[in-house]
Amino acid sequence: MSEAEIRGLTAAQALERIEAGDVDAAEYAAAFAGLDDDLNAFLWSRDEVADPGEGPLAGVPVAVKDIFCTEGVPTTAGSKILEGYRPPYTATAVAKLEGAGASVLSKTNMDEFAMGSSNENSAYGDVLNPWDHDRVPGGSSGGSAAAVAGGLAPCAIGTDTGGSIRQPAALCGIVGLKPTYGAVSRYGMIAFASSLDQCGPLTRDVTDAALLLRELEGRDSRDSTSTGIPGGVELPAGGDLQGLRFGVARDFSDEAEGVEPDVAALFRTTLDLISDNGGEIVDIELPNATHGLSAYYVIAPAEASANLARFDGVRYGLRVDGDESLGEMYERTRSQGFGAEVKRRIMLGTYALSSGYYDAYYGQAQRVRTKIADDFRSAFEKCDFVVTPTSPTVAFKRGERTQDPLAMYLSDFFTVPMSLAGIPAISLPAGLGASSGLPVGFQLAGPAFSESRLLGAALTIEKAIGFEGRPG
Ligand code: GLN
Repeated sequence: MSEAEIRGLTAAQALERIEAGDVDAAEYAAAFAGLDDDLNAFLWSRDEVADPGEGPLAGVPVAVKDIFCTEGVPTTAGSKILEGYRPPYTATAVAKLEGAGASVLSKTNMDEFAMGSSNENSAYGDVLNPWDHDRVPGGSSGGSAAAVAGGLAPCAIGTDTGGSIRQPAALCGIVGLKPTYGAVSRYGMIAFASSLDQCGPLTRDVTDAALLLRELEGRDSRDSTSTGIPGGVELPAGGDLQGLRFGVARDFSDEAEGVEPDVAALFRTTLDLISDNGGEIVDIELPNATHGLSAYYVIAPAEASANLARFDGVRYGLRVDGDESLGEMYERTRSQGFGAEVKRRIMLGTYALSSGYYDAYYGQAQRVRTKIADDFRSAFEKCDFVVTPTSPTVAFKRGERTQDPLAMYLSDFFTVPMSLAGIPAISLPAGLGASSGLPVGFQLAGPAFSESRLLGAALTIEKAIGFEGRPG
């Protein structure tokens, strides 16, 4: 097989070829080495091909979001404040992939500290959407999504706090899975909002997502909130959707405000495919989830303001010396090291947590969060999965939302509720929009730890959709 043919395979297909002796594990890794990164997807890439390890992922090169600490390899989280930082240890998620035989191919560009929906908040430049270079790839795992969609890597990992795996997957026409909170260890993953952050795969198809998640999940003594997935992850087999109920809530459907016609049309088409394959579409309600964004934009900045206090010029990366005091050094380092969106979140978060306001903002947001989790609990009494569009729009133009943070925040309307509830959700490509010609995502969410069932249903829907699109 030629290198280009090898790059055309999914990871699962490549592993089959390796198993059959048609392709060598070293050849597989080499097929992705030294490719021209015309998308600005990578912040670092390995200059030599790594020796293939042993295990179920032997030879698979993985693009890793630059938020995961990798021993001796630059790790910036997309921020200038971590420029030059080389961690002395490796994140558990990465170590587990390496333990399964995979190798880190590259570290991917991202919105600074995972704050953003377009990858325009990176200190290292925008990432381009492989379908249209004038458009954003989504964020914050935009580099991971663009790399997989653009054929620069067979698979990637990212993190999702409010949508950062699912939304870029949707905008780039690939699969993105946010596992149940606690399924994958957060150890070594630079913290944004600790009660929401989760690591997950970005892949070309559902089978590859399952393949990676099976290795990623697990309890880790170094992350006390990690539990792993009880029973592990079963590789999906497909089959029909007989007996499965798919819940649609009006406020989170094609009828929601701001949903583009391309997104609405493919959402309906996918629901029809689900019915054709034996699934039942049922009406549900998520009455509190419409307040998800409001709660998220209090809780996430609040946690971020605390987590980002550690970047002070003393421990890691950048230091800008002051003339006199230590305080001045902190101030200069932070004002030069952080970008505008990160500063905005720190200010919002610090304000929301300040004495006298704590209960009115943070306390209230936590109560809303509990109600949203209750919404899903009630919904799952009536259905097996909740389905929604992943993003209200297709990939938007670069620069279009940078001056309007609220418009940017609306990108996560459909993904934030599941993050607040801690439940797993996957985005699949539903097809290309009739008028835009750009990818549209379809989201399925299930109860906590239902990953194996979720992947099973997703595989069947993926086959029914039959999306083969690749950027030209
Ligand atoms: N876009 C959302 C934000 O900016 C979500 C980001 C994420 O999931 N990391 O916070």
